[in-house]
Amino acid sequence: MSCLFCNIAQKKIPATVVYEDEDVVAFKDLNPQAPTHILVIPKKHISTLNDLQPADAELIGKVILTAKNIAGENGHAEGGYRLVLNCNKDAGQTVFHIHCHLLGGRAMHWPPG
Ligand code: 5GP
Ligand code: ZN
Repeated sequence: MSCLFCNIAQKKIPATVVYEDEDVVAFKDLNPQAPTHILVIPKKHISTLNDLQPADAELIGKVILTAKNIAGENGHAEGGYRLVLNCNKDAGQTVFHIHCHLLGGRAMHWPPG
């Protein structure tokens, strides 16, 4: 199986990694949409949010907690930031390994595009 984000997690493709532990990796988005744009992924391959199982509850929680921690480290806790998880084509998912976008450092609009 050839998955871009599995390859990044396994260091087969380079990325600017800002955090890593046994379960998750966080790295800078190649095409940043905000001054801070980090992707947080589980190391385990899960294609879309639709594939999440009850047994993944702790893992997906860890993804969110990691994003929260990185937001704080980048000084966005008080001013705010946005976490985005896109699922399938209507949301614009382009990489089919679940990832949480952390966007911060500018004002966000609502509703999103
Ligand atoms: P999606 O649209 O699937 O929610 O987000 C995929 C994200 O992955 C996009 O923001 C895109 O810029 C980012 N991306 C795509 N290819 C690469 C890559 O090779 N390296 C990194 N660091 N980010 C990537
Ligand atoms: Zn994968």
